[in-house]
Amino acid sequence: MGLLEGKKALIFGVANDKSIAWAIAEAFKREGADLAFAYANETVAKRVIPLAESVGAELVLPCDVRSDEDIASVFSQVRERWGGLDILVHSIAFANKEELKGSFLNTTREGFALALDVSAYSLIALAKEAAPLMEGRRGAILTLSYFGGQKVFPSYNVMGVAKAALEMSVRYLAEAVGQDGIRVNAISAGPLKTLAAAGVGGFNQIAGIVADKAPLRRNITQEEVAGAALYLCSPLSCGVTGEVHFVDSGYNIIGL
Ligand code: NAD
Repeated sequence: MGLLEGKKALIFGVANDKSIAWAIAEAFKREGADLAFAYANETVAKRVIPLAESVGAELVLPCDVRSDEDIASVFSQVRERWGGLDILVHSIAFANKEELKGSFLNTTREGFALALDVSAYSLIALAKEAAPLMEGRRGAILTLSYFGGQKVFPSYNVMGVAKAALEMSVRYLAEAVGQDGIRVNAISAGPLKTLAAAGVGGFNQIAGIVADKAPLRRNITQEEVAGAALYLCSPLSCGVTGEVHFVDSGYNIIGL
């Protein structure tokens, strides 16, 4: 029997087959979960819908996480279809391209608000809707972060601030829903070639340094993140909440 046999998992953040969320979806499917997907907009729909169909997804719904109505609509359809929810995956981030290059001093008020809204606040908004559906089901909520939320990386700029807010939100949320048996964790992944990463100036340089300096002397894969996601969303980690778990070839432990 699979680790997630019969579990209902709602996954936000698949844009294509390189998305971290897609590797997570495949791992969850393999372990017996029933899947639903929420996608950002019509541009990604043409890639997400066929992928979702290939794993027999029961729901594939549009949701721009800046919209409270979109979010409410997704969760009401999940309630109608499944009557509850076991797993929520939040694998979403966005900042304007101009904010992800050059000096952090040039961060704009609008760019800051947008990055924090999509990349950090949205976890709180989704968790608020998910929590009542997880009642009595030992639910698990998972988000994706990056080391740039803890240390300064060139060009990561406002996204680093958003990831810091996201990681602290994981801890506050873990406390807020812990009494209902719901766990909230994050994976801090090493650099991976995805659409989101393509927007970060100097991405290749960062990946090269990880391959040189990380204890494992290589970059990670989407499948390795998915393995950790499986652990954090399954009963294997039932005593773990409020954690930021690194899947980064150990890069974060290196001083110099
Ligand atoms: P990706 O581009 O495949 O995924 C990002 C997703 O965010 C996309 O599906 C996009 O449609 C979605 N999104 C953006 N704005 C949205 C909105 N307004 N509403 C709904 N969805 C929206 O790239 P990815 O690398 O798989 O990113 C997933 C997560 O992993 C992000 O939080 C990212 O910061 C994090 N992460 C990525 C890396 C990396 O190197 N790729 C490393 C660590 C953490």
